[in-house]
Amino acid sequence: MRSMKSIALALALVALALPAASSLAQQTAESQAAMTPRAALQRLQAGNARFVANKSEPNDWTAKVVATASGQYPFAAVLACMDSRAPIEIVFDQGIGDVFGVRVAGNVVNDDELGSLEYAAKVGIKLIVVLGHTRCGAVKGALDGVKLGNLSGLLDKIQPAIDAAHCTESSSDSCVDSVAEANVAHSMAEIRARSPYLAHYLDEGKIALEGGVYDVATGKVRWLEHR
Ligand SMILES: [Zn+2]
Repeated sequence: MRSMKSIALALALVALALPAASSLAQQTAESQAAMTPRAALQRLQAGNARFVANKSEPNDWTAKVVATASGQYPFAAVLACMDSRAPIEIVFDQGIGDVFGVRVAGNVVNDDELGSLEYAAKVGIKLIVVLGHTRCGAVKGALDGVKLGNLSGLLDKIQPAIDAAHCTESSSDSCVDSVAEANVAHSMAEIRARSPYLAHYLDEGKIALEGGVYDVATGKVRWLEHR
């Protein structure tokens, strides 16, 4: 009997030690409406800090699938590179229904992505993030003048960032990373300049536009200063 009690106590202690279900609230129409652009940025920053510390929230994925089946209320949209080392939901420690992800090599801007971001704005996001990353293969390809099918036209879109970074050496990590950062800034400018629809939201302060560079060696996102 005594041993049974000990086992029960031990099980209870194990249960206490286990992480609780995610403390990240599922996004709802109400929580999305109540969130500010600043709070949206802070949520992504906090999520990245948890990821870097290897303390991502546990997720009950099945519950999140069920909770989002009838609708979605994401608080942010992230335009990011397709690089397999920078999966946005993981590096920002977000779940299902939290962020719109728009991913393309070199996080360049084109009309289809602008349309996607405009849709995201229409359905209530509070933040747009352009996320580049270190050691970006698309940036290296642009620096090397790679010509490859439809990729050539995509890489051409990175040329303004190469011009802005004033370097041309794809073998230099610092050059590649400088171009990646300039490319984030360029994409941010493109979003504002080429989408009057989004510019309206930005000018009214209903949506914020932020840029960051994800470090593939540390997992950390470095946020860019506003220029
Ligand atoms: Zn990349």
